[in-house]
Amino acid sequence: MGNILKVDLTTGTLRSEPISEDIAKKYLGGKGYAVYLLYNYLKEYESKGFSPTDINPLGPENVLIFATGPGTGIPGFPCSGRYHVMALRSPLTGSIGSANSGGEWGPFLKFSGYDMVVIEGASEDPVYLSIVDGSAELRSASDLWGKNVFDTCRILSRRVGGKNISVACIGPAGENLVRMACIMNDEHRAAGRTGLGAVMGSKNLKAIVVSGKKEVPVANRDVFREVSRRCLETMRKNRVTGEGLPTYGTSILINVINTAGGLPYKNWQTGVNPYADKISGETLAETYLTGRRACWGCTIGCGRVTSVSSGPFQIIGTEGPEYESIWALGGSTGVKDLDAIVKANHYCDEFGMDPISMGSTIAAAMELNERGYIPKEDLQGLDLKFGNSTALVEAVWRTAYKAGFGKYLALGSKKLCEIYGHPEISMSVKGLEMPAYDPRAMKGIGLTYATANRGGCHVTGYTVSAEILGIPEKIDPLTPEGKAKWAKLFQDFTCVVNSTVNCLFSTFALGAKDYAELLSAVTGWSLSEDDVLRIGERIYNLERVIINKLGFDGKDDTLPKRLLEEPMPEGPAKGHIVELEKMKEEYYRLRGWVNGVPTAEKLKELEIEI
Ligand code: SF4
Repeated sequence: MGNILKVDLTTGTLRSEPISEDIAKKYLGGKGYAVYLLYNYLKEYESKGFSPTDINPLGPENVLIFATGPGTGIPGFPCSGRYHVMALRSPLTGSIGSANSGGEWGPFLKFSGYDMVVIEGASEDPVYLSIVDGSAELRSASDLWGKNVFDTCRILSRRVGGKNISVACIGPAGENLVRMACIMNDEHRAAGRTGLGAVMGSKNLKAIVVSGKKEVPVANRDVFREVSRRCLETMRKNRVTGEGLPTYGTSILINVINTAGGLPYKNWQTGVNPYADKISGETLAETYLTGRRACWGCTIGCGRVTSVSSGPFQIIGTEGPEYESIWALGGSTGVKDLDAIVKANHYCDEFGMDPISMGSTIAAAMELNERGYIPKEDLQGLDLKFGNSTALVEAVWRTAYKAGFGKYLALGSKKLCEIYGHPEISMSVKGLEMPAYDPRAMKGIGLTYATANRGGCHVTGYTVSAEILGIPEKIDPLTPEGKAKWAKLFQDFTCVVNSTVNCLFSTFALGAKDYAELLSAVTGWSLSEDDVLRIGERIYNLERVIINKLGFDGKDDTLPKRLLEEPMPEGPAKGHIVELEKMKEEYYRLRGWVNGVPTAEKLKELEIEI
């Protein structure tokens, strides 16, 4: 078992604690172990008379955890170059904070001698944390404060020197406490969702630089070699992981989802984008692509290196945009100029912001503006109309610096729409902007959005895989029947993946049985498919217990009114709404929850001690 580095920024003290094998057996690592630790912080606060609902997400009492898992950094463990970040409370939503990132930071943290880093308190002055070959210390970041993500990564890499260096940091958006600020690593990789960059900013923590050479142990090397060989071969032969993602990246989905009638357009007013071809993965590959990039140890390599070679949005050698970024910054805003979308995405990376929440908030502002709900003087010259590419790019940097109308955009779509008196225009769940799939055209993902603990999220349980891509089997996207079972299964399995910690894209080819074999080989435990799914269910339930304590329950497991009441106006899903209550009733029954709260019997059955 490895070690946890606990850092108290208020006192400047650092201490090391061993990972507990008993806890790891129940929660694996990564997200699962972090959820367990966060729950214990909550219990400690409660024992001191501090109510969880009084936790200020941007106060020193919030706790931030960077976590790797048993798969991280093992050569041959498919897509194991990732890490998971969690916080007790998200500044965007007030629910639990959770995000995941690739690149090299996760494995290099492990090579540095630690499996996890827990950040408590807040520093008075800007600092960064350096962890090199098992030696950890806090250093002044006064000279880095104000610098963008790219400069911060380059300066700290040079400062440490040598090989295997990776920097996770915030940009100006995190420093300025923008509610959708990301934690970025390796320049273009993001732990994007729920505003965890703002949590780092509130703690005056600019960056964590990691480097090391330690080898990650594998309990049974011979068995692992064989299981790994078989899994990698399966991934190579799979049409998504072996062909679609390596060739076109995630943006291959633009045309696929648009054809299904579920690509939200102009703030979800319809699910058909008439200009999808102009912003598709195929167009990106033909016109902008200059190279591919893979996270550490990944055989898929879905990352895109792109350039806009001329014009007002020129940018050479950037990365992305991914499917979600193209949709949020493009489709949702009605912008069809891919040059502008690439540039807006580049700014999101440079300043450290989540493109999904950014694009969706701009789209909400465009709808508010077009309906006449925003006084002209508030916009300060920003011409927020659907399709305006110049306004899109300008709105992104204004948000990072809270300049002019950017101070409203920086709050996220929910608060923005509340301020202007029309909360129904925010296309969010629990305050988190939903991603690029309209559930009127694929009902299961609507149930996942509604019941996701962190808010409107597709990677909590990607039922789109079955509904649209036919993996592991094709199901009818337009019926609500049977979706509760799929949503629960995908959610539980995703907890296993995020606690392993691995890339979700591996699951297009690998199932729970493969994960059980990989995990058994590296840990030395004997895990079956049922065992790992039960661990996933345990994690999902404990996370639910946390958000219940933060004030969320069945009333919050819902969707924006537009999806529940406005029939899809066109395309294959024409006339459809989301029959959420029907699916939710079945889902709660399968989960053993009442009104979004796990029953005592369910918690006992899952051996969750609260
Ligand atoms: S599939 Fe893409 S995101 Fe996932 S680990 Fe590989 S390169 Fe990274």
